[in-house]
Amino acid sequence: MDAGDSIQGGLIGSMSHGSYIIDIMNEVGYDVAAIGNHEFDYTIPMLMKRAEELDCGYISCNFKNLETNELVFDPYRIVDMDGTKVAFVGVSTPETIRYSTPVYFQNDKGEYIYTFCEYGNDLYDTVQEKVDKVKAEGADYVILLSHLGESNVEESWSSVKVAANTTDVDAILDGHSHEVTDQLTVKNKNGEDVLISQTGTKLKNIGKLTITKDGKIKTELVDKVPEPDSSMEFPDDSWKEAENRTAVKRLFKAGRMALTFIRLSKVDFDTRRKCFSLSISSSS
Ligand SMILES: [Zn+2]
Repeated sequence: MDAGDSIQGGLIGSMSHGSYIIDIMNEVGYDVAAIGNHEFDYTIPMLMKRAEELDCGYISCNFKNLETNELVFDPYRIVDMDGTKVAFVGVSTPETIRYSTPVYFQNDKGEYIYTFCEYGNDLYDTVQEKVDKVKAEGADYVILLSHLGESNVEESWSSVKVAANTTDVDAILDGHSHEVTDQLTVKNKNGEDVLISQTGTKLKNIGKLTITKDGKIKTELVDKVPEPDSSMEFPDDSWKEAENRTAVKRLFKAGRMALTFIRLSKVDFDTRRKCFSLSISSSS
């Protein structure tokens, strides 16, 4: 999953209006993606095009069209994981309307025709409404996939404040502020624990959330991809199974695509490692 700002921030995104990043996300096989402020950098019509191309689609519970009074994207997705229902509710920072290009959110008369629930307690109320809805639909766990940030952001819209002003959220997988947070525990409105985790930026880390069979939740960061061990042998032929083979093929294809785009860009990078961290910019 991705916590937003994935299609801008690196050369690969900028040179293709985000389209190459969407190709890579589709090859990798993302399940859920949140909308960040930088998703709007190429205009809203362009974002809608990218959203159509993204296999998993975007979720955001607080980005609304004021003319139609409807949400622009699905607010949440409930994923069945071996019989356990985990709901992901998308939240986008209301800072977007101020810090992006305001004219993108206005009509010809300069009136705002979109909102991110930026007034009063609207953000907390909107998130709570969707959390209540997924609980009513049978979600066993509720995770906010948010682009809010913990610190150095408008305080009332931080993930910490959203956690403190809502109930029934188990964890928040966050983005926006580029913080490296393996696991921060805060109290919700009822004094219960909510975990917050954020991976930094540009795939420096990959976040991991574990729900144990007895219902305990843990978040952590995976910051190193181990070097292949040449002495290691596959214990059996399981890698030849169709499902595994598809996954391996997907990864190879994504890597090859990233290198092709870098070649096309004719930019001299320091190292291949840097190319990859620059090309697959996500979770920021
Ligand atoms: Zn952001």
